[in-house]
Amino acid sequence: MSKQQSLGLDVHLLTGSEARKIEPALASHIVGATISSRDAQVNPMYLVNGYINAAKRKNLIVHKGKPVTDIMFESGKVTGVIADGEKYYSEKVICCGGVKTPELMSKIGISLPIKPRRGQLVITEPVEPLISHVMLCSRYIAAKYHPELLENAHDDAIRLGVGMALEQTSEGGLLIGSTREFSGFDKNVTEIGVRTVCAHAAHIVPALKKIRAVRTFAGLRPYTPDGKAFMGAVPGFSGLYVAAGHEGDGIAYAPITGKSMAELIIDGKSESDLTPFAVDRKIEQH
Ligand SMILES: Cc1cc2nc3c(=O)[nH]c(=O)nc-3n(C[C@H](O)[C@H](O)[C@H](O)COP(=O)(O)OP(=O)(O)OC[C@H]3O[C@@H](n4cnc5c(N)ncnc54)[C@H](O)[C@@H]3O)c2cc1C
Repeated sequence: MSKQQSLGLDVHLLTGSEARKIEPALASHIVGATISSRDAQVNPMYLVNGYINAAKRKNLIVHKGKPVTDIMFESGKVTGVIADGEKYYSEKVICCGGVKTPELMSKIGISLPIKPRRGQLVITEPVEPLISHVMLCSRYIAAKYHPELLENAHDDAIRLGVGMALEQTSEGGLLIGSTREFSGFDKNVTEIGVRTVCAHAAHIVPALKKIRAVRTFAGLRPYTPDGKAFMGAVPGFSGLYVAAGHEGDGIAYAPITGKSMAELIIDGKSESDLTPFAVDRKIEQH
């Protein structure tokens, strides 16, 4: 918290009873919390469509359902990509395929340590307002930054990296997350995953026990061993860039990623220092 405060964020500590005054649904055993006045929620689907529509007004053309299979080069310079057998020419290419980024980069001999990290989520029926903030539990933070603590755990919830992320949408449904698992590219939900996610969340917000789940799904976060994304030029391949590996924060980081990459490509330098995110950095487990 002191690190967040030193960066100018309005974050402070609450006792359990102060937290329950703000969020009465919290269980009586909760002894404390931190709160930030600047936390907010977005619907990622609306956000992505908003970006696409805004870019279309600047003449963006979207080619859906055409996977890029190769990047084209001439004398060490990018000339475009091949997608669905067709050639698309461009002097600049950004590889931003999420968990699939390493697959494409491996074709040009670049190895990027991005691994899929599955998150299983549960969505409930719409209910009256139950909570008014996005809630994360401390285990969520531990699971995110210290996967080594989860290995070999006997408790299913710990082994699966379960940490509560709970939020209520404007329609009333609750999103209950989630696991943090290395299970390859498998996007299925599992009975044990759903059960442990629900049990852990209901331990913190007991009213959830009486609310029905209506849907479950899983997604793959692009994990990197040092917890930092790759954002920058690919050394040795003029015109080729990478923007990938944002793990569980890529929606929140989308605006700064887009801005930094645009500055780097157009001006040759980003306002933010992108050195920690260099594609060829030495990776250490954080
Ligand atoms: C359960 C869960 C909860 C999350 N919660 C949050 C949250 O609360 N806040 C937050 O900020 N983030 C959250 N995230 C993380 C966020 O979803 C990711 O960080 C973000 O989606 C990464 O964005 P991206 O554009 O790099 O990759 P993606 O969103 O995966 O997009 C990559 C795109 O590239 C396409 N692609 C791949 N290969 C090719 C190819 N060869 N040719 C053409 N296209 C290709 C894919 O189809 C995909 O559309 C969550 C993720 C999960 C799984």
